[in-house]
Amino acid sequence: MRNDNPLVIKFGGTSVGGGAQFLRAAGIVADAAATRPVAVVVSAMSGTTDTLLGYADLTGDGAPREGSLAELHRTLASRHLEAAREAVSPELLPGVERRVLELLRELVEAIGAPDANGPVARRGRIAVFGERLSAAILAGAISSKGAPASVVAEDPISTASGFAEAEVDAEGTRERCSRFVAPLLDGGRVAVVPGFVGRSPEGLPTTLGRGGSDLSATVVGRGIGAREVWIMSDVDGVLDADPRLVPNAALLPRLSYREAGDFAELGAKVLHPRTMEPAAEVGMEVLVRSTFNPNNPGTRVTGSEEEGGVRCIALRSSLSVELPCATGHRREASAVICIGSPEKRDLRRGEEILRRAGISPIQAGIAAAGLVFVVFAEKSEEALRVLHEGLVSRDEMAAEEVA
Ligand code: ADP
Ligand code: ASP
Ligand code: MG
Repeated sequence: MRNDNPLVIKFGGTSVGGGAQFLRAAGIVADAAATRPVAVVVSAMSGTTDTLLGYADLTGDGAPREGSLAELHRTLASRHLEAAREAVSPELLPGVERRVLELLRELVEAIGAPDANGPVARRGRIAVFGERLSAAILAGAISSKGAPASVVAEDPISTASGFAEAEVDAEGTRERCSRFVAPLLDGGRVAVVPGFVGRSPEGLPTTLGRGGSDLSATVVGRGIGAREVWIMSDVDGVLDADPRLVPNAALLPRLSYREAGDFAELGAKVLHPRTMEPAAEVGMEVLVRSTFNPNNPGTRVTGSEEEGGVRCIALRSSLSVELPCATGHRREASAVICIGSPEKRDLRRGEEILRRAGISPIQAGIAAAGLVFVVFAEKSEEALRVLHEGLVSRDEMAAEEVA
């Protein structure tokens, strides 16, 4: 049955890392678009923003070097044209190829343009091309799957002029969404929005900061009155610790906006730290899911805070406070933060777990986000792992899945 409420689906850089990934992402969108209006927010192909910013920095003195510019053009053209050839149908491919080449010409112009607004504005102006390129390919790939899709004619996110991490203007964005996103949805098309990108009051491109496409998704969701946003990434959802540090980190089926916001703020890279702000403001549900394992329901983030205890654990390395030690050298410390609604007995349990592992915390206490254990940096990853093992309360649903 058709549902009139729009859905926002965001794909991160690894979800559009190459032609095969674009095809997969386009399939997910086309399936969803069969039953409801869909707006898509897309990141640059993985690595592209780093390439663009690296180039911007290399040529920051305002003197683009011909050789390196040709190299940049070649790298971006081959990567994006190859992906387009794999993901877009033969009838639509020439249009997408033309658009990719046109964007690359605009990029070359943007690189050479006078630097009237300073180096930060220049970085922003160059960085946004990653998302513009991937949006063109994804729209072609979605249309090739039979769901007509178009890239929005203008960037719908309105921001202040801070070009690197621009502040979003919610009202301005609502107005721009009704001009540039809603007409596509009303016309039965999928609207494809380049993530990360905003527009200053002067009409210049701004960015929402590294990893900012997640925030773009909830900002656009709020702007079009969506009740649901899917953040599609390369993990099953939000895991209860960083999987690169804790190999047996487990999927969190549910999180509250507060928990997800605190976790992202403290380093859970899967979400930009401010993603939950627009969602919490209007009560939109955010589902963090895997592009590569779409049958997994992922993590559902809502306003409800039913669960007690420690829910997830983050590591804050290299605290600015350095601690003098007996020999007069300074030692760096890290904080392991156990997020959730822990109680005094959880704090005592945590101290006991560390003691048994031979780690003596420099400080331990309860803060707004949860428990905080400050330990010497060299012990921090071990502290993270033992506290994760002993302290995180497994959700009933997850426990049933494991059983
Ligand atoms: P995307 O390109 O989709 O935006 P990111 O690379 O920004 O993806 O974020 C996903 C990555 O975040 C994962 O591959 C994972 O390594 C890392 N990560 C760190 N902490 C967590 C966590 N708690 N849960 C899930 N992923 C995490
Ligand atoms: N492409 C941007 C970045 O690499 C934004 C994002 O991926 O969310 O930071
Ligand atoms: Mg990201």
